[in-house]
Amino acid sequence: MHDLHIRGARLIDPAQNLDERRDVAFHSGRVAALVPSLDDQPAAEVIDGRGLILAPGMIDLHVHIYQGVSHYGIDPDPKCVMRGATTAVDAGSSGASTFGGLRRYIIETSATRLFALLNISCIGMVTGAESEPDVGELEDLRHLSVPAAVRCIEANRDLILGIKIRLSDNLAAGGKNEMPALLLAREAAAATGLPIMVHTPRSTLGLPAILAELRRDDIITHTYHARESGILHPSGDVLPEVRRAVERGILFDVGHGQGSFSYEVARQALAQDFLPHTISSDLHRYNLDGPVYDLATTVSKFLHLGLELPDALRKVTATPATVIKREQELGTLRVGAAGDAVVFRECTGSRPLPDSMGRVEELRRWIEPVYVVRAGKVVARHVAA
Ligand SMILES: [Zn+2]
Repeated sequence: MHDLHIRGARLIDPAQNLDERRDVAFHSGRVAALVPSLDDQPAAEVIDGRGLILAPGMIDLHVHIYQGVSHYGIDPDPKCVMRGATTAVDAGSSGASTFGGLRRYIIETSATRLFALLNISCIGMVTGAESEPDVGELEDLRHLSVPAAVRCIEANRDLILGIKIRLSDNLAAGGKNEMPALLLAREAAAATGLPIMVHTPRSTLGLPAILAELRRDDIITHTYHARESGILHPSGDVLPEVRRAVERGILFDVGHGQGSFSYEVARQALAQDFLPHTISSDLHRYNLDGPVYDLATTVSKFLHLGLELPDALRKVTATPATVIKREQELGTLRVGAAGDAVVFRECTGSRPLPDSMGRVEELRRWIEPVYVVRAGKVVARHVAA
C-alpha cells in the first residue's frame, strides 16, 4: 500500500512536459507512481485533487534564512516549505566565518530542504544597509579571503552551490570596493568550479561591466529592479550586453525582494521577449509581510504579466533544479524523484499586490498553495481558503 495518493488533479510537470490529469502515488519519501488513475489502489492517505493543480515542490533560488545571525534572516519553514517552496537556497547570508552555524542550526534543523550560496565576504550579511550599524559586507576588503572561501566550500560541497556577491555602492565603500570584490568572487568561483550569483541594484559599475566578468552558469539576480545598473537602456530597450550574456549562458533570476522588482521594468522587458530563467522571491525579514509574501505570490505576479502557468511553474521547478544540478531528484514528479509536491488552487477575482516600488496592480488570477507534500508526507493543508 502506498503512503499517499493525490488523485484527479491537473498535473503540471514541466521537466516531463506534462500538463494533463494524472494521479500520483508517494511511498517511502519518493514518487512511486504517475498514472492516469489510482482509483482501484489503496493508500494510507488520499488527497482529492479534483479542480486543483499538482506541481513538483517549488525551488526558491534566493531567500535569507539565517535567523539570529543575519538581520535579514527569517525562519524558513513557515514561508518556504509550508507555502510550497519545498527547496530553498540561502543567497549569501553567510560567509566562510559564519557558514558553520547556518549548516548546524538552520539547514540541518529545518523541514525545508535548504542549500546555500556562500558570500564572498567572510562575515556574510551580518550588518548592512537596513541595520545598525550600517556597515555592508564589502566595506572592508580584508573581510574577503579567497582561500577561506575555498576551504569552506570544499568542506561543505553537499550544501554550498555557488558564491554570492552584493554589488551596491552602500555596501562597498561608495562603490570603490565593488570591482575588486567581484574579481575575488571570480577567483573563488574558478578555484571551486561553482557559479557566482550577483546582486546588482545600486551598483556603480553598470551592468555591462559586471556582465563582462561573468561566465556561463553565473546568475544575475534582481533582474527587474529599477535602480542603477539595471537591464534597460534609458530608451527602454533591453541592453545588447544583456542579450549577449544570455547567449553566453548567463542566467537571469527574478529575486523580487524589498527593493528589486518593478512591474514596469518587467513589463517592458517581457514585451521585448526578455524572460527570466528562474523566478525567486528573495524573501527576508523586511518583505515577508509584503511586497513579497512568498514564492507563489511572486509566480502569480508573472501570471499577471502574461506568462502561462506551465511556463511560470517551469521557472520554479525544472529550471532551478537544473541550475542547482539536482534535476534527477528535485523539481519533477518523475517516478523515483523526491516526494516533494504542491497542490495549488487557481484563483480568480481581484487581488491588489504591490511591487518593490510601491506600485499596486490588481491581479485577476493567482495561485494559492492548498497542500504541500515534502518527502512523501503532507506537511501543510491550507484548506480553509
Ligand atoms: Zn537577497
